Parts: sequence; C-alpha cells; structure tokens
Amino acid sequence: MPAAVVLFTCDLRLHDHPPLRAALAAGREVVPLFVRDRDIDAAGFAPPNRRAFLADCLADLDAGLRARGGRLVVRSGDVVEEVTRAVTEARAADVHLSAGASAYAQRREALLRAALATAGARLHVHDAVTTALPPGAVVPGTSDHYALFTPYHRRWARERMRDVQPAPRTIRVPDGIGSEQPPSRAEVAGTSPGLARGGEREGRRRLAAWLRHGLPRYHELHDDLAADATSRLSPHLHFGTLSAVELVHRARERGGPGAEAFVRQLCWRDFHHQLLAARPTAARADYRTRDDRWRTGPAADRDVRAWQEGRTGYPVVDAAMRQLRHEGWMHNRGRLIVASFLTKTLYVDWRVGARHFLDWLADGDVADNQLNWQWVAGTGTDTRPQRVLNPLLQAKRYDPGGAYVRRWVPELAGVPGPALHEPRKRPGAEGGRSGYPAPVVGLAEGLARFRAARGR
Ligand code: FAD
Repeated sequence: MPAAVVLFTCDLRLHDHPPLRAALAAGREVVPLFVRDRDIDAAGFAPPNRRAFLADCLADLDAGLRARGGRLVVRSGDVVEEVTRAVTEARAADVHLSAGASAYAQRREALLRAALATAGARLHVHDAVTTALPPGAVVPGTSDHYALFTPYHRRWARERMRDVQPAPRTIRVPDGIGSEQPPSRAEVAGTSPGLARGGEREGRRRLAAWLRHGLPRYHELHDDLAADATSRLSPHLHFGTLSAVELVHRARERGGPGAEAFVRQLCWRDFHHQLLAARPTAARADYRTRDDRWRTGPAADRDVRAWQEGRTGYPVVDAAMRQLRHEGWMHNRGRLIVASFLTKTLYVDWRVGARHFLDWLADGDVADNQLNWQWVAGTGTDTRPQRVLNPLLQAKRYDPGGAYVRRWVPELAGVPGPALHEPRKRPGAEGGRSGYPAPVVGLAEGLARFRAARGR
C-alpha cells in the first residue's frame, strides 16, 4: 500500500490526532512533515516568542515520533512545493491535513488540493482537530455563521463531540526521506525572559495539573489578576500540542461549576474560529463598522508607545503590558483592560493593538486575537459596542489587594493600599512613586473624546 504524508500545522501532537490516525490506517508508512513556511515568516507572523515555542513543539514532536519508531521530517520553503516534493519522494497517494479557519489556511488548502491533483495524490482535510467543533457544524437558520456568542454557546453545548483518539503506538517512515534539523529554541533571539515551554509533553503535564488543582475553582478565580488562576493552556491550544476536543471531554468528566466555566471559554475559542472561517476578512477589516476615524499623528504615536512600553501612568494597564513583554502571555482580564484603554480611552485603531499583541503573545492567533480585539473595540460581536472599561474600577475589582500591580510595576511596590491604583496626580506630588509617569490622558477626557467620535 502506498505511503501517506501528514502535514502538521497547528496540531503538533500525537494524542488525539485524526489526520495521523487516518494516515496510519492499514499499517501504512507515513511521512510526518512540518514545513517552515517562508510566507508565514515574510508576513511577520513568526515573532521570537512563537518561533521559540514552536521550536520546543517540533523538538518534542520529533522525540515522540522517534519513541514510536518514526521521526519528524522538517523542510523549509513554499509549503505546497515541499508537500508535493515529499509526495513524490515517498510515492505517496494521500496527504492528510487539519482544517484551519484563517484566509491563509483556506488558501493553503485550495493550492494544495490543486497541486496534489496534478501530482496524482488525494488531499484529506480533517475537521475538529484544531477546534472542538468544526466551523459550520452549527449555524443559525439565516446565516453561515453565528454573530452572537450566547445562541452559539447554547447550540454548541448540546452538540456531540467526536471521541478522543489515542496516540499511535508505532510509526514507520519510508527510507530515504531527507529532513532538516528541527529548529532549536536556543537559536531564537529576543524572546521574553518568562516565556513558557512548548511541546506536547509539557502541555499534557500542565493539563493534568490544571484538571486536578486549577479547574475546581476556575469559576471563582478566573478574573482575579493576582491569583493567576487560569489554565495558561492557550499557547498549547494555539499550536495544537493539546486537543480542544480532549480538553472539553476531560473537563466535563471532572464536572462542577469550574469545569462548566472552563468549557464555556473553550466555546469562545470555537466561536471566534467559526466567525473567521466564514468571514476571513475580519482579520483585518471591521466586522461591523462604526465609521471610526481613529487617532493618528505624533500625539497618538506617543500614546501608543507609552501603552506598548507599560508607561501610560495607569498602574493596572502598565502592569498588564509589562507582563506581556516579560512572559509572552497576559491574563485575560488584563487583555480586556488594556485593549479597552487603547481603543476607547486613547481612541487608537484596534489593528495597532492587535499587531503588538501578535508580536509578543505565544498564543497569538489570528482568530482569537483579531476577533477579541474587535469585540473590545466595539467593531466585532459585543452587544454593547460603546462600553468603556474604567481602568481604576477594573483594578479595584480584579486586583483589590494590588498584588498584580506590585508584581509588574516595581516603582509602585512601596505605595500602600487602594492608592496604588490611582494615577499620579501631578509630577512629584506623591511619595513612593519615583520614576512612575503621570497619566497620558485623563479618563474623563478620553471618554468624552470616544463618545464624540462614536457620535453619542
Ligand atoms: P483560560 O481562562 O484557562 O481559558 C481556557 C482556554 O479557553 C484558553 O486557553 C483559550 O484557548 C480559550 N479562551 C479563553 N478566553 C477566550 C476568549 N475570550 N476568546 C477565545 N478563546 C478564549 N486568546 C488566544 O488564544 N490567542 C490570542 O491571540 C488572544 N488574543 C486576545 C486579545 C484580546 C484583546 C483579548 C481580550 C483576549 C484574547 N485572547 C486570546 C483570549 C484570552 O485572553 C486568552 O485565550 C486567555 O487569556 C489565555 O489564558 P488561559 O489559557 O489561562 O485561559
């Protein structure tokens, strides 16, 4: 029986991997292929943190395949050319691939299908590998996707998910298929010092610990900035070292309000993916335009730099922005606060913020990032598009003891109690705040500017 090629993309695991299981059916030889796609590099979608995390994932995938008698085949260049070359070298008849939601993934799939037809091989695209339910699995009566989360969630929660598939025991790779050395994390410069480790084994270790210790109290603590009590599984979901289907099943097996709240977040992930799959342009264009004329020019540029560097003078905003640079990750509540601050208080285009997030986040994902940014900016699916999060009230509510701010803004470590969250009144007015900047804008001023711009 001819060999098969499995093209790994955002599904860098051996457990619960339907394309790999299908390729291995009937004991066939398989080429497990990863292509370092030069288009992704050229488009700026491979910044240091994600390159480093990816290097861990590939090293671990290679190790997992070797433990089963195989190995990972790594190539660099044009993904369609490299897959076609591997098909020819292995005399393969089939290529297996996970479906992706982005315009890039959809285009890759179409190009591969055409090229493989010419080469005499078949492309098999597998659903529900990178998401729990495939985009389009549930749709409202009147559209090709859900634009509102609540009805989507209601349907999604009732849907039967596919069963989890075990990791294969053995894998045979045909002889004579050359591979580059998988990239190493050590080769990547400019990563965040606190960047998490990637790889399936690390993901599974974190998952096991999370299910035992974190999940039971998730519903109570997920918004508490200082508690840091969310799963931190997002980079593993982005690179597919963990399966969303498996996470849903395993959380549901545990049960309880923590599990319910956690599974709901996984549904948010699917929600954004089904929206992007149906409207790939939402990665760049407003999903619902509000006719914004975002601020530009030197003053806006200065504000953006202060925001990026964690020097806005709003302690909770600055803490979260510094966490992003230090860890390549930010707490969800932090993401909401800083995104609202940029798009509404500073009235700067959501694309500017989304780009900065994609430059730093290990979990940076076109669907989750762009559509969450749009949600916060009010150009997406939020049913209250004009809402503005007040960073002082948010800080008092979600960091009441100030531990989160003290952790990330050492200039403020000596400031006692609730005063910590207040911006500095005027230069030199308060003790213990040496070196900490005055606010870039007053909240009332920012709010008035936003309301005027949105015509209310
Ligand atoms: P948990 O709270 O443990 O949640 C479990 C999982 O559910 C997460 O790992 C994630 O996969 C999913 N999830 C949770 N919240 C959301 C959400 N609002 N939308 C989609 N999926 C969600 N998430 C990304 O994975 N990549 C991004 O690029 C990204 N950019 C964001 C940008 C903004 C402006 C905002 C407000 C949110 C963004 N999120 C993004 C969503 C969310 O903040 C992160 O998924 C979450 O903070 C990751 O931490 P965790 O794994 O501990 O999450």
